[in-house]
Amino acid sequence: MLQFSYSAGTLHAEAVSLAAIAAEVGTPFYCYSSAALEGQYKALDKAFAGLDHLICYAVKANSNQAVLATMARLGAGMDVVSVGELKRALSAGVPAGKVIFAGVGKTRDEMAFAVAQGILGFNVESEPELEALSSVAAELGRTARIALRVNPDVDARTHAKISTGKAENKFGIPFSQAPRLMDRARALPGLSAVGIHMHIGSQITDARLQPFRDAFGLMRDLAIELKGAGHALEHLDLGGGLGVSYKLGNEAPPQPADYATIARETLGDLGLKIVLEPGRLLVGNAGVLVTAVIFVKEGEGRRFTVVDAAMNDLIRPTLYEAHHEVWPVADARRADAPVVQDVVGPVCETGDYLALDRSLPPFGAGDLVAVMTAGAYGAVMASTYNTRPLVPEVLVRGTDWAVVRPRLDVESIIALDRLPDWLAPGQAR
Ligand SMILES: *Cc1c(COP(=O)(O)O)cnc(C)c1O
Repeated sequence: MLQFSYSAGTLHAEAVSLAAIAAEVGTPFYCYSSAALEGQYKALDKAFAGLDHLICYAVKANSNQAVLATMARLGAGMDVVSVGELKRALSAGVPAGKVIFAGVGKTRDEMAFAVAQGILGFNVESEPELEALSSVAAELGRTARIALRVNPDVDARTHAKISTGKAENKFGIPFSQAPRLMDRARALPGLSAVGIHMHIGSQITDARLQPFRDAFGLMRDLAIELKGAGHALEHLDLGGGLGVSYKLGNEAPPQPADYATIARETLGDLGLKIVLEPGRLLVGNAGVLVTAVIFVKEGEGRRFTVVDAAMNDLIRPTLYEAHHEVWPVADARRADAPVVQDVVGPVCETGDYLALDRSLPPFGAGDLVAVMTAGAYGAVMASTYNTRPLVPEVLVRGTDWAVVRPRLDVESIIALDRLPDWLAPGQAR
């Protein structure tokens, strides 16, 4: 399934050499594989065959329009968390009727735009949001379809910063309040309460997928209760969160088929449409970050491989203590005896690293290295910290490739600043 492999001496994305791309676009750059994106989407879609379902790709994981368009052509809907993401999805050709708008802090302006577009629905996270959306929709003379996001208070057994389904997290409505809020939604103008939603966290890899099983079971009970209370439920939105393997070759990723089996067993007989919001699962292993070694620095008892990508390009290692495999682009390097080293960037922060204390080939200046599993929460979380331009993104398809976002240049970043009159050149102090 992995679309990154060695041939003719170098690491390739599908049939394109990463060294060849580097020679044209420079380093660092993100590179995505169309076949990997499509393969993951189709595997999930197939796993849910026979159940009425819609896959709404979570745009926040990787929002490049080329990625969105690839998904859209497969029939995907989108899950967005801001009006910016909604506009991206629309401009990538996704019909508004397939877009779900989630998030705890939607503004009235964002709601109005989305209502006017006629999106598929809103996942509502609180009572004040319910009231605001009702008044916005009623003012526009429209009806907004909503699903209540419930917080099942289950432990997703993932990193604390990406766990969302515990009572102490800011997300969703406590289960016990859901019936009352569905009644409230039914009574308010401008709303049609048609679903319930949950999303318990990200990068869930529990071998038996127990957190999902627990949460889906609770959702089942709630759906039955709400139907009994006369609510015209249409769909259950199971969120995203299915994890991917970050230790390629050493770790079996959770299987979409097992996840679908759990959904089928717990929810399959309810006659409700299933909405899915996978992000990482679809894009995580479809992308790599290619970077070049600038220097190798021998510290006291520690070897630092200093590369030209940094925490501003890929923040996951320092933000989530995430492990990313680091592979040499040159196949021959793999035969060298490994040495323990840190792979670090040029940013002035101790937290600026891509890999710590890792047994890797003895890289030298000029070597290209690929940071694996960088397709999700990579480029989208990049910043220009240290006035480092955002890096290009490249999409490969078979033997073809295209730059799908060019490298920004330093001058255009600097040109965004404005000097107030009193600091303009030539002004007296
Ligand atoms: C982030 C998020 C997702 C996607 O999560 P993944 O772990 O990338 O699958 C889906 N739904 C909601 C509401 C989210 O916040």
